[in-house]
Amino acid sequence: MKNNFTHIERIYWVFTQLCNDHCDHCYNDSGPYGARMSEAECMAVIDNMPDKLDRISLSGGEPLAERKLLYKILDKLNAKYGKQLYIALQFNGDLLTPKILKILLEKGVDRFSIASIDRYHKKQGERKEELATMFEAHGIEYIEGQPKLTRTELENDKRAHPTYGFFGATEDMWLGGNWARGRAMKHNIWKRDGLHNFCAIPSGAIAFLGNEETDLTQEVSIQLWAINPCCPGTKDPMGDARVEKVFEVMRRMEKSKVMQMLNKGDAWKMGESIGITEEFARARSQELENVCLWCDEFFTKYFDMKKQEAKAYKAKHPEFIPRKMENKISIHRDLSN
Ligand code: SF4
Ligand code: SF4
Repeated sequence: MKNNFTHIERIYWVFTQLCNDHCDHCYNDSGPYGARMSEAECMAVIDNMPDKLDRISLSGGEPLAERKLLYKILDKLNAKYGKQLYIALQFNGDLLTPKILKILLEKGVDRFSIASIDRYHKKQGERKEELATMFEAHGIEYIEGQPKLTRTELENDKRAHPTYGFFGATEDMWLGGNWARGRAMKHNIWKRDGLHNFCAIPSGAIAFLGNEETDLTQEVSIQLWAINPCCPGTKDPMGDARVEKVFEVMRRMEKSKVMQMLNKGDAWKMGESIGITEEFARARSQELENVCLWCDEFFTKYFDMKKQEAKAYKAKHPEFIPRKMENKISIHRDLSN
């Protein structure tokens, strides 16, 4: 990146895992007893965000379950970035009232994304019409999907046109099937397809460092404080946004051949620089039935995220050297895809 990560296009921040709901498919175990951060920790995370940021998505958990904290976060973001920052709120809509909506508009929320229109959520979208009426009554325009903003729009004041939209999780869409994380794993409703490359689609790691070959927006995900290249999150985070500047973490990652491969959305090639072949990675992904589970195994056994170097495990376990593994991989599996 030319700007050394002092300018990041977009941050997706789960600032709380507290939630009024407790959905079976929740990837980050949010719920009435979900993990929370103190106000001081949240303020430190904002302090450590880059000097220039185009967009932020605030999510949870349910952001409105931590309303006081959300208001403080919005105030701090406004003080740091002013009207240049496009603020999206991703929430389930259960707790929204006209009074709260008015405050959120005053505090500069540009986009209201209701993420609960699916059969997993308690209300299963039953408030959809009521919410649409509430948004329209406040002059908020309906736009389906992520509004695409031009560079000029990003450089100018966007606050004049707040928008809203609805979405939800399905087996085939949005999440590409439920992520192999949190309660989706516990309830066995995650996507079992070792050939599906989640890493290469939006919310995966692709373009987290920026990638000129794609037209995807650069996006860094922060789960509470954990800085990740993707929304599901790697086994160990890249850094801790409470105590580290995000741009410093990104500069460290940019030098790593493993992370460069994730930036291309290719978790099957990420181990090549340390001797883990693509064939081996694809085979493990199929055995584990999910590319993110292969990624977890990679960062558990073979590669130290913090040190950004190969782990000693591989040296102690030569059977995991891919060339020797070839004969052990069941030949009926199709490794060519
Ligand atoms: S999926 Fe959303 S609404 Fe459901 S428990 Fe998780 S954060 Fe809450
Ligand atoms: S393969 Fe790893 S880096 Fe890629 S989306 Fe999954 S967990 Fe994230």
